Amino acid sequence: MSVRHKVAIAGSGLAALATAARLHEEGVKDIAIYANGIGGTPYIAAINFVLPENPYGDTPEQYAKDMLAAGYNIGNKELVNEMAANTLRGYELLCRWGVTFAHNEDGSIKLRHVSGHKYPRSLCQTTNLIGVEIERVMLPKLAEAGIEFHRHAQVVNLLKNDNGKIEGFTVVEDGGEPYNVYAPVVVASWGGVGNLLGTSTYPDDVKGNTLGMAKQAGADLVDLEFIEFEPMVMMSPAGAVGEPCPTAMLGEGGYLLNSDGERFLLEVRPQGEAGAPKSLINHEIWKQVAKGKGNPHGGIWVDLRHIDIDVLKAYPWFYDRLIKSGCDPKKELLEVGPMPHSFSGGIKVDRNYESNIKGLFAIGEACGGIHGACRCAGNAASQATLSGLLCAEGIMRTGELNREISDSPVKYKRDDSVRAKYLGELQKIAGKALGVYRNGTELEAALKATDDIIKANDTAKDDLTLQTALAINLIAKAALNRKESRGTHNRTDYPESKPEYEKEFVF
Ligand SMILES: Cc1cc2nc3c(=O)[nH]c(=O)nc-3n(C[C@H](O)[C@H](O)[C@H](O)COP(=O)(O)OP(=O)(O)OC[C@H]3O[C@@H](n4cnc5c(N)ncnc54)[C@H](O)[C@@H]3O)c2cc1C
Repeated sequence: MSVRHKVAIAGSGLAALATAARLHEEGVKDIAIYANGIGGTPYIAAINFVLPENPYGDTPEQYAKDMLAAGYNIGNKELVNEMAANTLRGYELLCRWGVTFAHNEDGSIKLRHVSGHKYPRSLCQTTNLIGVEIERVMLPKLAEAGIEFHRHAQVVNLLKNDNGKIEGFTVVEDGGEPYNVYAPVVVASWGGVGNLLGTSTYPDDVKGNTLGMAKQAGADLVDLEFIEFEPMVMMSPAGAVGEPCPTAMLGEGGYLLNSDGERFLLEVRPQGEAGAPKSLINHEIWKQVAKGKGNPHGGIWVDLRHIDIDVLKAYPWFYDRLIKSGCDPKKELLEVGPMPHSFSGGIKVDRNYESNIKGLFAIGEACGGIHGACRCAGNAASQATLSGLLCAEGIMRTGELNREISDSPVKYKRDDSVRAKYLGELQKIAGKALGVYRNGTELEAALKATDDIIKANDTAKDDLTLQTALAINLIAKAALNRKESRGTHNRTDYPESKPEYEKEFVF
């Protein structure tokens, strides 16, 4: 069995939905989405857009400036500027496909102030996660528009011809026999890599082996050392562990405390906690833990007790989960700390979101280079939307849609005994070396251990294992090569290379 499409999209998150929606608007027919789960999209609470009627005098130019500054000036300026310049078009695209956002009583759009931004520019829903709302309205509309959805299909290999152009991918659907999906345009929107490290905020379907798959196909990759760690993830009680405490809570007046009850962030950010970049929060948490002023689980505390109950309840997914877990944020301090949460590295793309492989496009968390060394909160969702929109328009510009594709053999290797032998071990290797604080000795060890697994005779019998090992190996190599601490990448063995907070974060 094999099938053919004009556009085959791997993944069904927000980036994929935005691309499919915009391509449909451009009149493209025969678009199919292949995904093996829901990804991070339904968990999105915050999404940033700069709207002309905002009360702060905010502009797309200021937004781009914030992104570049929060990313320690590593982000690709062309992509950042283009994303910011099109921010309103991203918002309008979602609105055209039925997405609605919370309003204030005076009818203006509700804007929250989240980490890394000079101004409040984060849109939301106050009755549910905005990601759930996006899926609720967009999925049926896209299906109605003729977009084909395969909801239990795992992409296992990319297909490329002898001229180095993409031809499609191999899929395993519902655990059946693998088959080839041919298309002149393939869009990688398979999300990030956090699950490579074991414990993370990611859902299980985003396995991270896709980074290795892209490398196997010859895609150029960028910024692989920059895994984002969400700074305020619940560490206790058991029922709430893994739930991110929104950084918007700092914008609502919440603050971070050490075991002496000190608001330690004020030492480096006297203007207050609101808007503090995630990398700064993570670094300062680490300093408190290192001084013995952390919580028993290796993090610190966040204090929300003084925040109005109605404000807390306007984050119902968070508030309700805490209450159900027996933890009342009006009465108790919350134990929080950093956890892998999103990925700022990935496939290197040009203005069209096309990779170095003709016909292979990458969007959302699957592409890298926009957020630089640290992503502003809420910007994963904005970038997923905007990269999807701009990619669709890029696809139209490249003229790849009408390329003829020939058949090729189905190539897929699976060996469950190899998976059982290596996958757990690989998670341990990655968890140890690639966590929020890194050092050369552990990175060297991870590199050697993954090199050995890649070269082992049995690894070649299982694509998932090989791709997973390759992905960890590539991230470890990038982390080892970046000697300085920068953004989300903290090298404890290079203390002299002080993170550049003071210089970068002037607001
Ligand atoms: C708990 C949580 C809360 C978050 N909150 C926010 C927030 O408030 N604001 C914000 O900006 N960002 C947030 N993020 C990050 C955000 O969810 C992601 O960055 C965003 O969803 C990325 O969109 P995407 O379309 O690129 O990928 P995803 O939404 O992750 O979708 C990836 C898709 O690819 C599929 N897939 C993966 N591998 C394969 C494969 N091999 N074959 C086929 N399909 C595959 C997945 O099943 C899924 O459909 C949060 C993430 C988590 C986990």
